[in-house]
This record gives sequence, structure tokens and C-alpha cells, in this order.
Amino acid sequence: MNRKYRKTLIAGNWKMNKTPSETKAFMSELKGLLPKGRWCDIALCVPAVCIPAAVRAMRETRVGIGAENCNANPSGAYTGEISTSMLTDAGCKYVIVGHSERRAMGETDADVNAKALAALDAGLVPIICCGESLEQREAGITEEWITMQIKLALAGISEDKIRKIVIAYEPIWAIGTGRTATPEQAEEVCQHIRVVVRKLFGSKNARATTILYGGSMNEKNAYELLAQPDIDGGLIGGASLVPSKFVKIIEDANQPTA
Ligand code: PEP
Repeated sequence: MNRKYRKTLIAGNWKMNKTPSETKAFMSELKGLLPKGRWCDIALCVPAVCIPAAVRAMRETRVGIGAENCNANPSGAYTGEISTSMLTDAGCKYVIVGHSERRAMGETDADVNAKALAALDAGLVPIICCGESLEQREAGITEEWITMQIKLALAGISEDKIRKIVIAYEPIWAIGTGRTATPEQAEEVCQHIRVVVRKLFGSKNARATTILYGGSMNEKNAYELLAQPDIDGGLIGGASLVPSKFVKIIEDANQPTA
């Protein structure tokens, strides 16, 4: 983390977990446990049907609610889809785009780019995910792959909007597997992402970009990961479903840094 230049963000991704009633109970427990420190931003990206309950529960807190996906079109015949203006109207601040689980369902780099642009236009913070598979890592093409994903995802984003994005590095082999990247592996790729952003948008913008690590981050390994200079927070799946575990990670993100 480097709080001098950029925001720290601890973001949860609930995936397809919890009902609206369970959301209400979770948020009430979370409120009781949240630390007083104000150093890091907190987001919870929840299933679409849980957004109203989450927004209502966290209205007076510093926890921003987010969606797990959006459609890039403003409106129309897209049965089952949700637009970015629907999300902002419902009270969302964030939206995850390009999660590997959605890419596995057919989301392309072009879709990720269109969603990121639509999110920015609507005033949402897109949490843009990238990450390599185990095969790509073992073939030694992680940097090339990440470079391509980031360049395609950020295409057409204007200079004045680039500081509103968050990038999440999530190696696919570490998501939901309990196999976390080592702090050194995670830092290496997050640092590389910053280099890519610098080449595209200049050093001041790169220095100000919040880059998260995601992939089996939990209450036991977060401290070491967050101590890395280019890891500005976490995108957390499993551990964000348990208030005490999520809060422990927030506390670790509130640690003093140089
Ligand atoms: C995720 O869903 O983005 C994620 C990182 O999941 P987990 O923390 O469970 O690996």
C-alpha cells in the first residue's frame, strides 16, 4: 500500500451467495464490528437482488455497495441484464467487471472494456479484473497476458476518468482454491500493471491508481500481501462472507505504512 499517492480499498465479492434476508443480518453484524480507522475504503459487491437491502443497511456507514456485473447498453431488449444507471439509481458505487468467472461464461475483453466505459459514464467505480491461468503462468506468459487484458480493458478511457478506476489482479489459479499467490508473486504482477498504466496514462496517473490483489486472500494472509508497495487492497471472495474475517482484513489494511 502507499496511502500517500492512492486509496486503499478492501472489496468483497459475494458471488452467488446470500439472500436479501441474510444480507440484512450480515450488514447488521458487520456494522457492530467495523473499526473506527478511516484509512481504507470498503466495498461489498453483492448479488443484484441483495443491493437494496445492502444499501439500506449501510447508508450511514463508509461501506460502499457494488454490483458483481453490469450490461454496457443503456437500456433495451436484454432480458435478465442490469444497466449501470439502474445500479447507480439503486445506490451502488462500484461494479466488478471482467471477473474470471464471468469471462469463463463468455465475457470477452471487448465486453469488459464496454462495461468499464459504461460504468464510468454512469459515475460508478469499475473494479476491472485481470489474471492469468495456471497454464499461462507455467508457460511464462503472465506479463504478456496481463498487458493485453489491461490495454484492452482501458481502451478509450479518457485521462480525466482514469483515476476513477480500480484494477484487480486475480490469478485464476488462486481464486477460490485456497492457493494464494505469494506476496512476491502478487507484487510482481501488480507492479507490472502499474507500469502498463504508466505507459498508457503517464506516471502521475499510474501512481494514483488503486491496484488490488484477489485470490484466496483471507484474514491470515492479508497483512503480508497488503504490505507490498503496489498492492493497494484486496478483492475478497470467500472471506468476505464472514463479518469477522472481512473486518480482520480491513484492520490489516488500516495498518500504518511508510
Ligand atoms: C474473487 O471472487 O474475486 C476471489 C478472489 O475469491 P476468493 O477470495 O474466494 O479466492
